[in-house]
Amino acid sequence: MTGIPAFDHHSLGQRVLFGTGQARAHLRTAVVDLGASAPMVLSGHSDRAVADAVLGGLAIESRFDDVVPHVPVEQAEQARRAAHESGADLLISIGGGSTTGLAKAVALTTGLPIVAVPTTYAGSEATNVWGITEAARKTTGVDPRVLPHTIVYDAELTATLPKELSVASMCNALAHCIDSLWAPRANPITTALATEGIRALAAALPEVAYRPESIDGRENALYGAYLAAVAFAGAGSGLHHKICHVLGGRFDLPHAQTHTIVLPHVLAFNATHAPAGVERVAEALAATDAIDGLRTLLISAEAPTALKDLGLHEEELDEAVDLVLPAVPPSNPRPVTRANLARLLRDAWSGSLMV
Ligand code: NAD
Repeated sequence: MTGIPAFDHHSLGQRVLFGTGQARAHLRTAVVDLGASAPMVLSGHSDRAVADAVLGGLAIESRFDDVVPHVPVEQAEQARRAAHESGADLLISIGGGSTTGLAKAVALTTGLPIVAVPTTYAGSEATNVWGITEAARKTTGVDPRVLPHTIVYDAELTATLPKELSVASMCNALAHCIDSLWAPRANPITTALATEGIRALAAALPEVAYRPESIDGRENALYGAYLAAVAFAGAGSGLHHKICHVLGGRFDLPHAQTHTIVLPHVLAFNATHAPAGVERVAEALAATDAIDGLRTLLISAEAPTALKDLGLHEEELDEAVDLVLPAVPPSNPRPVTRANLARLLRDAWSGSLMV
């Protein structure tokens, strides 16, 4: 038996109400318990039907449905104005990470509490991280005001997520788990959360990919996504997240799909320098080898495999290396050089590991 090293872990306080078919009742409980009388609801145009079903007859003060990816500063300002003009005392976000992100942008300047009702597996609802895009540059930060007060998880709300997006979103969650093993504030708590998250997500991935209507699969996916996000919030951004942040922000690549493609390459890159972490990944995947196990899982779920298929051009790889290199966390177990990072990105661009 080995001992436990000294560590410094921050647990984030929030309420989690989890129950299939219970979103409407749980949302009411959350609103009543917060004593709110004038909620503003944020949900995208395409999520309107889901939002209406969850809201039922709940008394709301206003709605904001102009949600677009990556939280452009103009949208954030419009939503802040709408919250101010309607006298909102609570923000209810119903949607994926983009909707939660918009609610966070409003909470950042208004201090209003958020009740988050997620409809994807992105996990933003369980972190205190915000992101706002201005002039094609995404700025992120950490602030306790943006951590939702309550999360309402209901697997039925994710059942309409198409297979391709479901798979990519679950892989986004898997990336939170795996990257948190070597992120700057990784500790035994975040590692335990990540390991259980990988286990739940690995079980859910093929189930949801082949039986998208499987509520059991989607419950495990949501449970895993929450654990993943808590692990990520505690451990911080590792190499994988730094790479994906650059690719998404500078080249406007889709968030979940980019995470899906980059993940096996970062795992393979760090594998020889992080044997304990990699052993945990293998165990959680019920595989003898972590990289093979992840590759098999992704291929069997028909996950996207190459950044070139997302529209990244070969001639943009050099710029990506330039942008990622200064952001590499010193905690990364394998020393990162221009040459080995360029190789990693080229492999992810061509999808070489996944053939
Ligand atoms: P998203 O919210 O942009 O949703 C993707 C698409 O799926 C949208 O068109 C949306 O309308 C649709 N959709 C959402 N739920 C659906 C459902 N149940 N059925 C059918 N369609 C549905 O994408 P995402 O991957 O959920 O979130 C990505 C964003 O979240 C990025 O901006 C990313 O930076 C952010 N994020 C932030 C954190 C954080 O901690 N701050 C963590 C993870 C992700």
